[in-house]
Amino acid sequence: MSIGAAAEIKQKLDLVELIGETVQLRRAGTSWKGLCPFHGEKTPSFVVTPVRETWKCFGCGKGGDLFNFVMERDGIDFPAALRILAGRAGVELSERTSREDAERKRLREVLEAAIAFYHLVLTTHKAGGPALEYLHRRGFTDATIETFQIGYAPAAWDAMTTALRTRRGFPDADLEAAGLVLRRQRGSGVYDRFRDRVIFPIRDVSGHPTGLGGRVLGTYDPATQGGKYINTPATLLFDKSRTLYLIDRAKAGIRRTGRAVLVEGNTDALMAHQAGFDNVVGTLGTALTAGHVELVTRYA
Ligand code: ZN
Repeated sequence: MSIGAAAEIKQKLDLVELIGETVQLRRAGTSWKGLCPFHGEKTPSFVVTPVRETWKCFGCGKGGDLFNFVMERDGIDFPAALRILAGRAGVELSERTSREDAERKRLREVLEAAIAFYHLVLTTHKAGGPALEYLHRRGFTDATIETFQIGYAPAAWDAMTTALRTRRGFPDADLEAAGLVLRRQRGSGVYDRFRDRVIFPIRDVSGHPTGLGGRVLGTYDPATQGGKYINTPATLLFDKSRTLYLIDRAKAGIRRTGRAVLVEGNTDALMAHQAGFDNVVGTLGTALTAGHVELVTRYA
């Protein structure tokens, strides 16, 4: 992952040495000082602080880590700076990133297939009838069900698994990596994680699927039904603490209004969107995290 690679590169490279190739630096206590290469000056206001792995110019205000320095110096973006510094640090980048990119792409395909399956069951299959009725009774329109690709997971152990395996050829390992199935305790094979639940596809800001939320229908019996809401567990794609339900649909509304409204449940968030409040997102039943705040303030 590029985050891990970036940290490894920082460890291997010496910030003072790297910047010292462009800027003549002189030691000043625990820092180093020199003339800023990014604006004209006669007295040094450019400071490098190795313990913090940062640099800062108090004249023009520019600053950052070694990646920002190379981005400024060469006028390039982060991925390009990452490539240059990875080469210099001897960190293998291409292989790792492309392997993870391929894995992500595959898991998204698996999730899209599962979302399509659950949606089909809800809207066209006899087994989805009671769930569709339940959603209509709660006030959801067919347009909302279509737009947000709401689905229904049948009350069976392997309906989804069988459909995706036989119709799409996805191996169990991919279904498991996408968080859709659990391994059987006894014997071999896997079974569907989501059973007899309304399914809400969860997407990232770009609209790519990252996981699913599943809610029990109507009356809820904690003794036999597990959680009222369950989500996909943590996967390569899904991190609950950095995920907000409907962020892909709400980002424009958040930008326009300058505010984000956070609600707890998926159904509340959906209802708000159906009523035209397009700056509402759901927290997937978790407490508010720094990751959530970072996500919404990117747009507000
Ligand atoms: Zn400067």
